Amino acid sequence: MPARILDGLRIRDEIFAELKTEIARLHDQGIRPGLAAVLVGENPASQIYVKNKIAACEQLGMASWLHTPPANITTEYMLRLVEDLNADDNVDGILIQLPLPSQIDAKRVLEAVDPAKDVDGFHPVSMGKLVSNRPGLVACTPAGCMEILRRNQIPVEGANAVVVGRSDIVGKPMALLLLHSNATVTICHSKTRDIAGVIRGADILVAAIGKAGYVQADWIKPGAAVIDVGTNKVSDPAEAAKLLRNFPERLEKFRAKGNVLVGDVHPDAVQVAGALSPVPGGAGPMTITMLMSNTVKAARLRRASAAAVARS
Ligand code: NAP
Repeated sequence: MPARILDGLRIRDEIFAELKTEIARLHDQGIRPGLAAVLVGENPASQIYVKNKIAACEQLGMASWLHTPPANITTEYMLRLVEDLNADDNVDGILIQLPLPSQIDAKRVLEAVDPAKDVDGFHPVSMGKLVSNRPGLVACTPAGCMEILRRNQIPVEGANAVVVGRSDIVGKPMALLLLHSNATVTICHSKTRDIAGVIRGADILVAAIGKAGYVQADWIKPGAAVIDVGTNKVSDPAEAAKLLRNFPERLEKFRAKGNVLVGDVHPDAVQVAGALSPVPGGAGPMTITMLMSNTVKAARLRRASAAAVARS
């Protein structure tokens, strides 16, 4: 029996509906959550991502601001801009769209963001809170993967969870979130020995590698829940034919369009897994969803801590 499809678009709609209610409640208290996005230069992919993030803010009735400095700006310029956004009380979340041009010290810029406004969850303070399981802002993609598991009633406690990939933005925070939900977690990376054997023991597999169809269907434990974070554009016809050999309709679409998005898990895994997040339409839509959720959360937490300071 093919896997149950873990539909990220459905979960996005569910969370957006919940956020709208919360935003309306905040409006009643005179609070309008707001996101400031900084897009440096004219990277076409980044322009689309930021446009979608601003559109999501508008859809939810949140405030948004877009700063678009030119590609040749300096680190100092960026630090001043971040300082201004940190000081602006209307701004609850600050998003620095990556990658930044090479002359900018991206680490310094990201670390200058006020952790209370760190809606990407990339700041070392946010990471530290996650490590010690304290409330805070968590990186959007892994937080979204947890929502996929939770809202599909996939039991995490006691499960063997394998995370493939150890990046700061996906793999590491993902492993910590699973650990805090009481899974037994193994992290794999490019130096892992017998990766197929490790993956075969997974009740829950999260793949975040960046290699189209790398995880083979026969590495998956029958019935396992698979979250495929990989988003790989395949444009080589031979590779597409190999990956989509059992999906004639998708192959047909590839031929018409010249490229196709494939996850890190081989599409044939749908015949082995118990539940599977598709690419596209699985983990992908969760990143913007959790960015919106983090911005609302930041608005709530900042107001709560301001009120506590005022009371003391
Ligand atoms: P990344 O920073 O490039 O990290 C890739 C990780 O995969 C590294 O830890 C690397 O190991 C590991 N890896 C590479 N080849 C491997 C192999 N053959 N076997 C085992 N592990 C291997 O990538 P990322 O930013 O985490 O992104 C991963 C994927 O998720 C990409 O496809 C990206 O496009 C996608 N993504 C999607 C979303 C979304 O849909 N919203 C968001 C973020 C990322 P080492 O550490 O040993 O090098």
